[in-house]
Order: sequence, then C-alpha cells, then structure tokens
Amino acid sequence: MEKISIVVPCYNEQEALPYFYEAINDVAKQMNDVDFEFLFINDGSKDQTLAVIKKLYKQDKRIRFISFSRNFGKEAAMYAGLQNAKGDYVAVMDADLQDPPSLLVTMYETLKNEDYDCVATKRTTRKGEPVIRSFFARLFYRIINKISKADIVDGARDYRLMNRKMVDGILAMSEYNRFSKGIFGWVGYNTKWLSYENIERVAGQTKWSFFKLMIYSFEGIIAFSTAPLAIASLFGVLFCLIAFVGILIVFIRHFIGVESAFGWASTISIVLFVSGIQLFSIGVLGQYLAKTYLETKKRPIYLVRESDEDIND
Ligand code: UDP
Ligand code: MG
Repeated sequence: MEKISIVVPCYNEQEALPYFYEAINDVAKQMNDVDFEFLFINDGSKDQTLAVIKKLYKQDKRIRFISFSRNFGKEAAMYAGLQNAKGDYVAVMDADLQDPPSLLVTMYETLKNEDYDCVATKRTTRKGEPVIRSFFARLFYRIINKISKADIVDGARDYRLMNRKMVDGILAMSEYNRFSKGIFGWVGYNTKWLSYENIERVAGQTKWSFFKLMIYSFEGIIAFSTAPLAIASLFGVLFCLIAFVGILIVFIRHFIGVESAFGWASTISIVLFVSGIQLFSIGVLGQYLAKTYLETKKRPIYLVRESDEDIND
C-alpha cells in the first residue's frame, strides 16, 4: 500500500490540535486504500502543544512527532517534516484547519490518475482579512513575480500534496533562509491548483502580525531575486547622467556670461536626496550581504530536543 505523510507544523496549537486530529482521522477513514503517517512538528510551543501531541501519539500508531529545542519558525518546521516524512506522498497542512483535510481525497486521486507531481491550494478570496493587509499582499505578489524566476502564486497556501520526486527536489534546496512560496515555485514540476474560499482558523491565534508579514515579504524578495541590486546600480547610472547634464548647463551658463550664485536651499536638498539614495543602496547591498553571511555559517535549520524515536514502548 502507498503511504501519505501529513506534515503538521505546530506552534502554540493546544486548542486547535484535537479538532485537527479528529478532522484528519475522518478523512483517513474515507481513504482506506492508503496508509497514513501524521508527523507533528512542535516548533518550540510555549503552551501544552507537546503534551497534546504525546497524548494523541499514545492513542494512534500512525502518529509521529518531532519537537524542536526552541521556536525556529514554520519554514524550519516544514523542512523538518519533509526531511523526516517516510511516505510516497507528502502533504503539508496547518494545524488550525484553515487547510481543509477533506481536499486530500481529490488531491490523491489527481496525483494517482493524472500527470501531476503536486496538487496545491490557493484561496480565491481574502475575505476576513484587513483591507490594508490585502492591498500590500497583492502588491507583493505583483512585484516579486516581475523580478523573480520562481513562479509565486497570489493567495497560494503552503497546503499541498506532493510526490516523492518533488519532495526530494525541495529537500535538495537546503538553504538556511527558507522562503517556501518561492521554493515550491522554483523547483517546478507539474502543479495543479485547487481554489477554495478563505477559512478562518478553528481556535487559537494567528502568529502573523502585519510587521512580521512585511519582513517576511522582503526576505522573499531577497531570497528569490537580485533585482534590488540592479535597481541600486540603475540609480547610480541615472544620477551620473543627471550630474553630467547639470555640469554642462553650468559651463554653458558661465560662457554665455550668466553667473549663478543663488540656491543654497536647493543645493542642500539635492545633497540630502542623493545621500539618501546612497544610504538606501548600501542598505540593499547590506541585506544581501547579511543573508550571504548567514548562509556561509551553515547553521542547522532546526534542532531536535525530543521525538517519537526517544520513546520506546
Ligand atoms: N507555525 C509554526 N511556527 C511558527 C508559526 C506558525 O509552526 O513560528 C505553524 C502554526 O502552528 C500553524 C501554521 O504554522 O499550523 C500556520 O500558522 P498561522 O495559522 O498562525 O498562520 P496563518 O494561517 O494566519 O497564515
Ligand atoms: Mg492559520
């Protein structure tokens, strides 16, 4: 029998987990022609998440878990999940039931019967989301798709079922700064998209503030495009041109006898503006350097404090 691994990153999900388990269990019952493995990644939760997982683990042989030494973030949790999943197919699913487990049935059918390597999901609406947040989200997708090779789909969720080949492709990208939306797009493979309406989380709190999302989107751009560097160079060329024209004008005015000594305020404005652009460009350069610095350290993406393998029974 083929096996599907369900990877579930969990950070402070004590309220949502029991609902999640019930839902995924129902789906697994419907799909009785496949084996399942539920791999919970406890990403340094500060509540009783690990205890809840261990309780489920005692009830159900299909459950496995990995518990991190601290909070490493969802990206790290997904990587750990993909790395440790043993299934022929692997799905990544949020613990808050925003990713409806019932879609698994169609996903699996599609992968089995059609020429796809992955069935991914996106939400059709941003209902229930603050307006400003939606606006910036859309802007982000427009920009990053213009400047990057990775095909990053607006509204795409991390929820997807992939075959072994694609999972191995993703694992081969062992970078430290992980931006999954980009990684999924970058590896390619045939992906079928399912759409559904946005679903609010069943219990607990979202871990994303507006500020966190903004930082995340900048990281995405830096991880999958070098366009900002090119833009900084363009600024340089542009300002050289402007300076050249300015010098010409000054010379011509001098030779036709027009003297110009006015304009302290405009000079200061220009100096401030140009130094602003310079600092901005150095900042952009610094971001790439910082990411390179972190990559060269080759730090582990996550550290495990405890896993089901530690429990012998
Ligand atoms: N998550 C995680 N580590 C983190 C933050 C979130 O493993 O540092 C998990 C979280 O438990 C959930 C999923 O990632 O299963 C998505 O998180 P959340 O629901 O907060 O994000 P949203 O759905 O609001 O984008
Ligand atoms: Mg959520």
